[in-house]
Amino acid sequence: MTEQDTKKRIEEINAQIEVLNEERKELQKNCNHSKYRIGLFSWRIGCFDPRRICNICDEILMEEPTKEEYDQFKAEDNLGQGKKEYKNESN
Ligand SMILES: [Zn+2]
Repeated sequence: MTEQDTKKRIEEINAQIEVLNEERKELQKNCNHSKYRIGLFSWRIGCFDPRRICNICDEILMEEPTKEEYDQFKAEDNLGQGKKEYKNESN
């Protein structure tokens, strides 16, 4: 592969990623987030917050975990991803 080939292929890949990101955004917008887990969300390098994450579309939800959900999350042996699945009552 020449440098020109690599450059062209990277541009194609970037264009595809953009299309896929748009599709994901659309799917997340239409998801009713019926089930979620608690997971760590990094909002900037080195900073993590526990948040509700949709188990269907992986969107970070606006509502923060309850104290009970956070305590359960902390009690689990995990790598930033809670195992317990919750039903979203607000839908
Ligand atoms: Zn969702």
